[in-house]
Amino acid sequence: MFDLKKLLRSHFLDLKPYASARDEYSGKEGIFLDANENSLGSVISPDYHRYPDPYQRDLKQALSKIKNVPPQHIFLGNGSDEVIDLMIRLFCQPLTDNILLFPPTYGMYSVSARINQVQVKEVQLKPDFQIDISAALKVIDDKTKLIFVCSPNNPTGNSLNEDVIVSLLDQFNGILILDEAYADFSQQESFSRYLTSYPNLVVMQTFSKAWGLAGLRLGMAYASTDIIHYLNKIKPPYNINSSTQALALKAIENEAVKNKYVSELLQQKNWLSQQLNQLDLVEKVHPSDANFLLVRMKQAQKVYHYLIEQKIIVRDRSNVLLCEDSLRITIGTATENQQLLEQLKSFKIPSIA
Ligand SMILES: *Cc1c(COP(=O)(O)O)cnc(C)c1O
Repeated sequence: MFDLKKLLRSHFLDLKPYASARDEYSGKEGIFLDANENSLGSVISPDYHRYPDPYQRDLKQALSKIKNVPPQHIFLGNGSDEVIDLMIRLFCQPLTDNILLFPPTYGMYSVSARINQVQVKEVQLKPDFQIDISAALKVIDDKTKLIFVCSPNNPTGNSLNEDVIVSLLDQFNGILILDEAYADFSQQESFSRYLTSYPNLVVMQTFSKAWGLAGLRLGMAYASTDIIHYLNKIKPPYNINSSTQALALKAIENEAVKNKYVSELLQQKNWLSQQLNQLDLVEKVHPSDANFLLVRMKQAQKVYHYLIEQKIIVRDRSNVLLCEDSLRITIGTATENQQLLEQLKSFKIPSIA
């Protein structure tokens, strides 16, 4: 049975969070002499002299409308990276508990676990980059608090089988965190629709990819109101700054632009994928539901360094298990993709003597 209170680190159960000035009085009208802000204003315009809303109410309201998730099921983090860290801190007792990952996957899950002295258990994806569920169930023990699943997965680009994720949700009494950072590029519907059926599900998304706002640092988590309650207890009080809140509201008004970017990037991805497939150098372009391609090549490391000399920077994943000889290439503008292709065409595969 899933029991949130048993799963939480026990000292959080009765933790009294920091009560900010804006917690004690949240009205918008009045003479505010309660937070030691500069009453005269700030030294720049636009004016940022007031502390931001600690619960980002307006932003969650707007997000709720486009994501179809009620505001009370939304948590916002200073990037998804903050959500990952808070989830580990909330549930994993250092030197005792563990988390389960399916590599190759996003690097922050294990870094964040190690920062918190939390053990990382790993079950490699199968060669088709899907989860080996029977191996996963064997590895889970009573100290396994969190499972991180990334779909579409970074760096492999594929979506993970939905039935397998549902089956994990059914059989795991800890929390499954589904990272949908690349969901905007995928045809699969968000797992946020399962929130009401699975109290052990947390879905993460981000403004860093399709929205083009990596510099703002804004990630979201959708979860039960109980989990949101505890995340709010332990987060830094003003973790989303005023300019991020204001700019994200503006971004949501411009959702159509995001959709236009997504369709253009998908078109470019198809083009680049076809072109790469025609090169002798390229052994496999993995199917991708994201805004990047994982490409297996002859001499991948040499190609990587050659591209750097040409001032084209891709990600070398050739040392990663199951990604041997592969580069991860983010989809660029049409011109950038053409330049990449021309440089790859002029790369001479060294003949084996
Ligand atoms: C890029 C990425 C993120 C985004 O992290 P932010 O901290 O929100 O920028 C999250 N998860 C995965 C798998 C990613 O590749």
